[in-house]
Amino acid sequence: SLSSKTSVYTFPLIYPIGESGLGKSTLINSLFLTDLYKDRVLSEVEARIPQTLEIVKHAVDIEEKGVKVKLTVIDTPGFGDAVDNTECWKPIAHYIDSQFEQYFRDESGLDRKNIQDGRVHCCLYVLSPFGHGLRPLDIAFLQAIHTKVNIVPVIGKADTLTPAETQYKKEKIRQELEENAISIYEFPDCDSDEDEEFKAQDTEMKRSIPFAVIGSSQVVRELKDKVFRGRQYPWGTVEVENAAHCDFLKLRNMLIQTHMQDLKDVTQEVHYENYRAQCIQSLTRTGARDRSSRAKLSRQSATELPLLPLAETEKLIREKDEELRRMQEMLQRMQAQMLQSKGEQSDNL
Ligand code: GDP
Repeated sequence: SLSSKTSVYTFPLIYPIGESGLGKSTLINSLFLTDLYKDRVLSEVEARIPQTLEIVKHAVDIEEKGVKVKLTVIDTPGFGDAVDNTECWKPIAHYIDSQFEQYFRDESGLDRKNIQDGRVHCCLYVLSPFGHGLRPLDIAFLQAIHTKVNIVPVIGKADTLTPAETQYKKEKIRQELEENAISIYEFPDCDSDEDEEFKAQDTEMKRSIPFAVIGSSQVVRELKDKVFRGRQYPWGTVEVENAAHCDFLKLRNMLIQTHMQDLKDVTQEVHYENYRAQCIQSLTRTGARDRSSRAKLSRQSATELPLLPLAETEKLIREKDEELRRMQEMLQRMQAQMLQSKGEQSDNL
């Protein structure tokens, strides 16, 4: 069977966000619960993602082409549903930060080998197909989190748009993202020695952003053996996984095949490093100065580590350990100081 040669990716986190009613849950279900392929084994999933009102985590195990992927999907139902949505992104930004904080702590701790990575690797931001481009809430939200997480924008319920409208909306959204200086997940350049077909696919994918997607919880049976996930209308049937109907397949392939590792790498090397730098900066000024030169080193080391000679690699690791040790000491000193000043305060009372 396939499972004898499976490798397991653990916990890349996906965070779908957008107003309720845009088809987020349906999309996620369509993305990860597809059971229409013989060569794809799906384990049981903890039921359909329900409508809820806080931050909820769902574990989803999928196996595709012999690769097991343990995904965690975070849900924030009710986003943007209130009368006043001015600060509705705060809990989300806070959640992303808190996962960094946890990782930062674990990384500086003793049991570094067994860290559970709860960091959010991708935010799937679902835009409405009905608006004219971005709404103020979209802009405020995206600006608040774009330095924290990889944003992959999608247009939901794309079956409500004609191809021309889809094209127009995509262009408008791309333009408005740029005007508002919102940086979304940047797809890496394709290797020049890849084959032509792969390159063409890659170009096509980049051109399709924001992906216009359709979801469905319904399996349609047409003829004898044509079975697919789709939406049936009086005038015809929309196929979720038909590239001529929408970008669903592009999104799915990108998320769980071609770009999963890159999403994790960018989270580690850019977003997490940013967070770490900020933490250290706020702890001490000298630390911050130290950090700026280090940030480059470690970013490099993460991508080029296998190419470095062993001694070099060990040196980098030693430096990192030393840095962590210094940070721990600093934290301890600060804690001691805080305790002391608390003690003095209560002595004065
Ligand atoms: P959520 O609140 O964003 O999670 O949205 P749901 O997934 O619960 O979907 C809300 C409604 O939209 C449901 O009635 C779905 O059947 C419908 N829906 C979901 N996806 C699509 C889609 O791609 N196209 C259309 N036309 N309707 C959709």
